[in-house]
Amino acid sequence: MNIFDKNGIELNAQCSVDEEDGVYGLILESWGPSHRNRDYNVALDCIIERLIDSRIDNVVVYIASSAARKHISYLDERKIHPEEYYSLVGGSPRKLRQKLCSYLAYFSRTGKKDVPLGNRTKRIIISVPGINSGDFWGAIVNGESLELLQPTDDENVLNKRVSRLLKKTLREPEGQNVPKSVERLQKVYARDPAVKGWILQKSKGSCENCGENAPFFLNDGSPYLEVHHVIPLSSAGADTISNCVALCPNCHRAMHFSQDAKEMIEVLYSKVERLQK
Ligand SMILES: [Zn+2]
Ligand SMILES: [Zn+2]
Repeated sequence: MNIFDKNGIELNAQCSVDEEDGVYGLILESWGPSHRNRDYNVALDCIIERLIDSRIDNVVVYIASSAARKHISYLDERKIHPEEYYSLVGGSPRKLRQKLCSYLAYFSRTGKKDVPLGNRTKRIIISVPGINSGDFWGAIVNGESLELLQPTDDENVLNKRVSRLLKKTLREPEGQNVPKSVERLQKVYARDPAVKGWILQKSKGSCENCGENAPFFLNDGSPYLEVHHVIPLSSAGADTISNCVALCPNCHRAMHFSQDAKEMIEVLYSKVERLQK
């Protein structure tokens, strides 16, 4: 399989997830002209970044070129870093990759034993202690860090994750047949029915932002519009007619989530005379 970068573009760096010589991990390889090697570095940056995002602190990296495998039969001697683990804590992915590559170059130059050809076909195996799941590595290769894919009961977190996922090409997800649920204490405000009613009557069934008619009628025959507090109640806004507008659902959502929300609110203040800041 190939590694995908942040934008979901396939990189020219081959990898596989397998057990080899008794270690389970991601085998990354690259060979040939330099442009391939550039992709190899980008791929390695992506992998390191995703491991960090998935809160992996330590990996073990072995050289796995065919020459090395042939000449160094004892796996431990093919570990390219001097310490037991290669730490991913406290460094940018790029810095960590550069350090790893310098170990790799050092290993190739000197060899722990005489290795003909060193690691000219760059081939390494990265293992994460305690992890031998293809799903884990599949997510790393495809750029879906495990944390990003965790279900969450926090809508803000959910939307942040969705926003990051949208930048990638997503595979069809399995979803959850029985999602977990939580009960939560929520602050709710007691609202004045007369204020809501007056605002709705005043709107005469059309949105005070875009002027369009309500999109449908309720069972009681009244046009469906939503009453929005321009300064939110949660930000100490008042439940009064000088802080409320009737909006169609589209404009209401836009008022809360649009990138143009600030300007839309200013327009509302100038358009609807009863509003007060
Ligand atoms: Zn509208
Ligand atoms: Zn609102």
